[in-house]
Amino acid sequence: MGKLTDVCIFCGGSGLTREHVWPEWLKQYVPRTHKTTFHQVKVYSVVPGHPIENERYSKGHLTRQGDPASQRLRVVCKKCNTGWMSRLQQKAKPIMLPLVNDEWRELDVESQGILAAWITMYTMVIEFAHPMTAGVTAEHRRLFFNSQQPLPKWLIFFGTFQGKDWSGDFNHWGGGLYNKNSVPVSPKCNMQTTTAAIGGLIFHSFCNTSHDQTLALGFGNYFHKFGFRCIWPSSGKTIVRPIRTIDDKMATNIADTMRDYILSSPSKRIQTLWFSDRFSI
Ligand SMILES: [Zn+2]
Repeated sequence: MGKLTDVCIFCGGSGLTREHVWPEWLKQYVPRTHKTTFHQVKVYSVVPGHPIENERYSKGHLTRQGDPASQRLRVVCKKCNTGWMSRLQQKAKPIMLPLVNDEWRELDVESQGILAAWITMYTMVIEFAHPMTAGVTAEHRRLFFNSQQPLPKWLIFFGTFQGKDWSGDFNHWGGGLYNKNSVPVSPKCNMQTTTAAIGGLIFHSFCNTSHDQTLALGFGNYFHKFGFRCIWPSSGKTIVRPIRTIDDKMATNIADTMRDYILSSPSKRIQTLWFSDRFSI
């Protein structure tokens, strides 16, 4: 496998180290019964008026020996990994562990912000398992590196999860949305959706920096229906435990629906390119 990146995805520095897909303190919640991790990548493009083209499946970077809990990505430098990233892990740990252990407690606005920041960091790192599908812009990574705060044009939801297949999984989709007349020669993704589950927690992040900011309208209602709570942007209110618990089937449904919803949305003025990325065990 070739390199995923030559420099740190956050600061642009050298001296890359391996970052765990799931941090050490969450590893015990990732099933360890598997000898091999399976990472599926599907790449295709959609041009208005044409069916899906160039569809193909291939093995992703994370398809390798070793159980999913031990998988790591070489995309961040030592200074970031052991500095601000480590500090954000430590801040998130006491908020996330009760949720992962299904020992629910109310989440105040500050805790929501920390959880949203952790999910932002998680998304930015795991999407580099397949750099072609990375939908977060370099500018947004730099903003996050500077502030460690969740960002504009992002939506972040979380809910309670009870299932087997999805724990430790993520499903990531990157997409590029462009005006028909201004598609760059080498188009890059400018949006992404990520769904992931660990223990009793499931979360979803979406960001869209394309010209079309209408795409996310309705997402709030959709996720609410499934029992998700929106933590970013925050409503400014304390969040109580969602009534509905997500199972494996619903998690797959949500991840696929997000893809289909966005795929079906573009009007004729938009050219869409889509890339998919699925990490499972
Ligand atoms: Zn760095």
